[in-house]
Parts: sequence; structure tokens; C-alpha cells
Amino acid sequence: MTGLSGGPKAIILFGPPGSGKGTQAKLLRNCMSIPHISTGDMLRSGENLPERAREKMHAGILVSDSLVNALVEKRIAQPDASNGFILDGYPRTLGQAEVLTGMLAARNVPQVVVHLKVDYNKVIERLAGRRECPVCGTLYSLNSNPPKVADICDRDGARLVVRDDDSASVVRQRLDEYERQTEPLLEYFEKAGVPCFSVNGSDGSPDAISQRICGLVSAY
Ligand code: AMP
Repeated sequence: MTGLSGGPKAIILFGPPGSGKGTQAKLLRNCMSIPHISTGDMLRSGENLPERAREKMHAGILVSDSLVNALVEKRIAQPDASNGFILDGYPRTLGQAEVLTGMLAARNVPQVVVHLKVDYNKVIERLAGRRECPVCGTLYSLNSNPPKVADICDRDGARLVVRDDDSASVVRQRLDEYERQTEPLLEYFEKAGVPCFSVNGSDGSPDAISQRICGLVSAY
């Protein structure tokens, strides 16, 4: 494993649901020894998650900025994040991006955006075939990266599950939220002078895409 050149960085994996952010964040740990911070995973595992937020997640609607901002602020203050971190699924609104910019400026940590570009039809196909191990979190795709034995995790033998917000109607809602609230952030990053790298998220295997991202970000 190698660290990042030039000090800690916040690597923002940016893209619609199903663009491969979670898969890439996990693979990137092979080339960077920094933690993967997923607000979706934190919310799903949160024991004290307010009922209102749980309902919003089931419906594919974004939860409040204050809730996720507080989660991220606490998480990036942990010692393992002192060498930088990979953000997956955050920021997703202008309010979150502004708060993050403030948190990072206070720590003197620059941000770098990696924009995973994937065709929408591909995204819908991917989300429909997505399976997740409830024990270790490994992600599978029935089309491009199936488990060796149907429905069983290669790593620990657990039965794979479909996330309840991967159903067709909720996927449409999540994509709508992305277009309306999240995609406009690309303009915010550009105006703020944050370096943005675009990567074709459907060109090649997940490993090949990860190597491209690693090359771009490590050289930065
Ligand atoms: P994800 O696993 O990143 O697709 O997130 C699953 C769900 O968690 C989303 O559909 C939202 O309801 C919620 N969520 C995750 N991250 C955020 C965020 N940064 N802001 C608001 N809601 C979020």
C-alpha cells in the first residue's frame, strides 16, 4: 500500500447511485491506506437513527443535511482519518458541500473530486442486479461480478441480500434526488477551484477502473 503524495486529502467519490462509488471506495483501499467513509452505510447501521430519517431512506429521499453533516464531522475527527479519507455519498447537497468545505479548511485538508460517469441505462441495470453481503459488505453485480455460488458471499458464505431501496420505483426517486440536488454540485466544485477528475465508470472491470482512479489521485 502507498499513501498519498503531498499530505492528507479528502477524496470525494461523486456520481449517481449505481455508478460504482461503494465498489471503488472499497477497491481504493488496496492502493491507499485511508478509510472509506460512506454516509449511506453509517445511516443504515445507525442504531439511534430517527424514524423520519429511516422513512426517507426507504423512500429514496435524502435525509437532513444536519444529520449527515454531524455524522461526517464526528467520523473525520477519528485518528484513522488523520491521513485523509475517501467520501462515498457525501456531500449530496449544496448545504453539505459548504459545510464540508468549512470542516476541511479548518483542518487544512484539500478536497479532490473523482466523478464516476455512467450511462443512466447502465445505472438502472446495475442497481437491479446489485446484491450485498449483510456480514462483510462485499458488493456483487449479477451481470458483471456475480458470486461464485448463486446468492452466497464468496468471502464468508452469508446469504446475499437486495437493498430495500434498490426496488425500481425507489431507484427512480434516488436518481431524481441525484439530478435535482447532487449533480449541480459539480458546478460548485468547479467554481470553488476543487480539482475534479472524470472517470468512465463503465469502461473496464472494477479493478481496472480502480487503478485509473488510484493513478490520478496518487499523482495529484
Ligand atoms: P447510499 O447508500 O449512499 O445510496 O445512501 C442511501 C440513502 O441514505 C440515500 O438514498 C439517502 O436517503 C441517505 N443518504 C446517504 N447519504 C446521504 C447524504 N449525504 N445526504 C442525505 N441523505 C443521504
